[in-house]
Amino acid sequence: VPALSLLQQTDARHHFHPFSDNHELAQIGTRIIDRAEGVYIYDIEGNRILDGMSGLWNVAVGYDRKEIIDAITKQLHQLAYYNTFFKTSHMPAIELSELLAEISPPQFNRVFYTSSGSEANDTIIRMVRTYWATKGAPERQVIIGRWNGYHGSTIGGASLGGMKYMHAQGGLPISGIHHIDQPYWYGEGGDEDPEAFGIRVARQLETAILEIGVDKVAAFIGEPVQGAGGVIIPPKSYWPEIQRICNQYGILLIADEVICGFGRTGNWFGCQTFGFEPDLIAFAKAVSSGYQPIGGVLVSDKVADVLDSIGDDFNHGYTNSAHPAGCAAAIANIRIIQNEKLIERIRDDIGPYLQTRWAELGDHPLVGEARMVGLIGALELSPDKARRAPFAKVGSAGMICRDISFASGLIMRATRDTMLLAPPFIVSHDEVDFIVKTARDVLDRTALELKE
Ligand code: PLP
Repeated sequence: VPALSLLQQTDARHHFHPFSDNHELAQIGTRIIDRAEGVYIYDIEGNRILDGMSGLWNVAVGYDRKEIIDAITKQLHQLAYYNTFFKTSHMPAIELSELLAEISPPQFNRVFYTSSGSEANDTIIRMVRTYWATKGAPERQVIIGRWNGYHGSTIGGASLGGMKYMHAQGGLPISGIHHIDQPYWYGEGGDEDPEAFGIRVARQLETAILEIGVDKVAAFIGEPVQGAGGVIIPPKSYWPEIQRICNQYGILLIADEVICGFGRTGNWFGCQTFGFEPDLIAFAKAVSSGYQPIGGVLVSDKVADVLDSIGDDFNHGYTNSAHPAGCAAAIANIRIIQNEKLIERIRDDIGPYLQTRWAELGDHPLVGEARMVGLIGALELSPDKARRAPFAKVGSAGMICRDISFASGLIMRATRDTMLLAPPFIVSHDEVDFIVKTARDVLDRTALELKE
């Protein structure tokens, strides 16, 4: 194996990293990850790190799962590739489509495949606008998303998302996208009762619909729990009120389940945990636990019936739509989730255990709030927790905390000064104890460093 520094130099010279300051990376050098097993990743120097982020929220069943690797290998020998454009299909696509219809809420019986969550959301923009055009209302173009929501990195996905730092690069959003506030009680709720806050923020949707004009609004999109935005768990009142407004004005409701889907919140889909019934669902990530890149859109009967009546092709698709190896990986992955009863485990066993232990961190002087649903949670760092005050230099404490955590053998991600945790579904009780003990130690050391 070449020396670490040589690998880092080669990486810096030839590899343009996503969501990174590439100039800075070249100075500090990347950490090179070599292998992974269970809930652990190992870097090239042999350090073992507990992956508290399941890769990028996707490695639900853990690393090195023989069943998935064998299914992919077998499929590659059988049929490495064929498209689904030429009035063609194949066994893994057929089997996975039936399986997704079985595990999803009853209104979903059809699936359109992509290779990522971003592509799923781009697909949704075209489906929603085509839906209304087919129903004779082509002026219904506007899709309403939320500030600080994340729906991917393509031009469409980043436009639907509400990350202003992403809009700033490339002249986004595209036309016909509107944003309302997020249901972020900790950061924006002040003294208001959380449930009253949830209703008030949801009603911004109604205000926006009336301002834009009911006859121009096509849909609303949101993540059941905003992930990249900082694991923002909405008050219970929020989603039912959003549902009521969508029903009242007849606009489509879209759940971006790219993070929440396939069990993360203790049900197959986050909309089941939060009590709403979307018309379209974007998925990716945990559908294959990251063993192959695959995502897609679950299409409700209501939308599918209209799209079936276009009287023309739906002019949209990807070379890798329903890639056979991706489908094979997803089938094997979903079978593991079913056979090992991982969702029941999140609901009744490891979920409540981690939630209880995580909540203990709320007593730390640096933690303004410790929250978690299923196996997705956050710690809000604050210099003055009684006032929920932000840090003077936003993001500095989060960065320090993240780096100390990584060096201590635990991956937590930082969004500004919010520390995020979303471990694989197979995490054990002992590993939960390690996470909480390490996180407390990391918080102590972060507090010390901030004082210096
Ligand atoms: N939607 C949500 C909620 C996500 O969290 C992500 C990725 O993190 C995406 C969409 C984009 O998915 P991908 O990175 O697979 O394009």
